[in-house]
Amino acid sequence: MRIVIVGAGVAGCVMARRLLRLGGAEVICLERVARGDHSEAGTGLNIGPNAVKALNAIDPELADGITENSFIWRNWRISLTDGTVLFDLPLAEVADGPGWRIRWSELYRVLREAAVPHVQYGCEITDIGRDAVDPRKTRVTWSQDGKIAHLDSIDLLIAADGRYSRTRRLVSGEPGTRLAGVAVFRLLVGNTSGGLIDDYEQWFNGPNRLLAFRVPPDHVYIAGTFPIPPEADIAEDLKAPEALRKAYTPSAASPSAQARWLIDTVCENSAETHWARMQEHDLLYRANDCNVLYLGDAAHGMVPTLGQGATQAIEDAANAATLITRHYQHGMLDVGRWLADIEALRKDRMRFVMEFSLAATDTMLAGADPVEGTRRKNEAPFRNRLKALYRDVGLP
Ligand SMILES: Cc1cc2nc3c(=O)[nH]c(=O)nc-3n(C[C@H](O)[C@H](O)[C@H](O)COP(=O)(O)OP(=O)(O)OC[C@H]3O[C@@H](n4cnc5c(N)ncnc54)[C@H](O)[C@@H]3O)c2cc1C
Repeated sequence: MRIVIVGAGVAGCVMARRLLRLGGAEVICLERVARGDHSEAGTGLNIGPNAVKALNAIDPELADGITENSFIWRNWRISLTDGTVLFDLPLAEVADGPGWRIRWSELYRVLREAAVPHVQYGCEITDIGRDAVDPRKTRVTWSQDGKIAHLDSIDLLIAADGRYSRTRRLVSGEPGTRLAGVAVFRLLVGNTSGGLIDDYEQWFNGPNRLLAFRVPPDHVYIAGTFPIPPEADIAEDLKAPEALRKAYTPSAASPSAQARWLIDTVCENSAETHWARMQEHDLLYRANDCNVLYLGDAAHGMVPTLGQGATQAIEDAANAATLITRHYQHGMLDVGRWLADIEALRKDRMRFVMEFSLAATDTMLAGADPVEGTRRKNEAPFRNRLKALYRDVGLP
């Protein structure tokens, strides 16, 4: 049994490590960046309690490694930039445990070190095709150190190569994409807040929203959003410090001490911010007629509102690895059946997560009223959906 994983990111590393325990299977993970290069990942992320629960269930040692390099995410507070608190939720009320707050580069370092020695670095996938003998199998070509290499007769190809998955495009075509009409920027800075910023918080001024939390060793991750027309690019003048200050400064009151520090810090570092437009793309877990499995962002790019991108990459990998291991150990070696079972296990769950993430974006859209919208987030329907999000992690 030959299994090739494309991408040693979040889902790829969790899968590589777990599938190596299969015994008798050849597992190879091909990663584009060089060993030790986590530079693409400059910002921070919060990982939901559902990922912590799923990873603890399949790989507690790896979960402990992430915990050691994280701060614990225990609380979610939403305020206005004038300091009025609208929502203050201890995660313990809706989840079975806390989440993580971590630098993205640290998460990659921990995951990739744990997946050694199965990852081959510096491998850029250039082509994927059907195996000449068995069309359900695949062959992969890649470049490494200026040389072309390839593998054929691949029983299972796992695409864990992220949001712009070349594997998915080559095998299943371009996914449909929908823009939400929200511009997002992200920034990681040293913590000069003097204790103002720690656990996960958000601040609204109209539909314009700041988000921040502290990550180890002592940095603050800041993300900001504001509405834009859905199909429009983000105009350069909206990225300027004056525009950002105006977007987040309340007009009828002074900014709170937290908001003041955040606005000043964003404006001072506006040249360092990373910009994107919120979008999601079509959900797809497997190729139509060959044994290719999509996981993480390759399967479901989603809007980042509930911090579920890396979270779901972990949940996907935990579920897929458990199911594959179970079938393999019972001698059930029909890979097509594995993929159908993974899809059946994950599809409805993932539709729920994507729809919920999009619905929770309501307060960030043009014309939104964050006070009324956030008030609704205090009510049972939203909290019950959060409980389902954070607790129902599947696992066959
Ligand atoms: C700035 C930012 C902040 C974010 N914040 C959060 C957050 O707070 N919470 C959260 O849960 N999610 C967050 N996300 C989303 C999260 O990072 C992604 O959803 C998650 O990394 C997806 O995991 P993955 O395993 O699918 O892909 P990735 O982690 O993106 O890994 C893909 C891997 O494939 C490799 N690769 C790509 N193409 C090729 C190729 N052709 N050949 C070989 N290798 C290839 C890449 O180098 C990479 O290592 C954030 C994303 C960004 C950009």
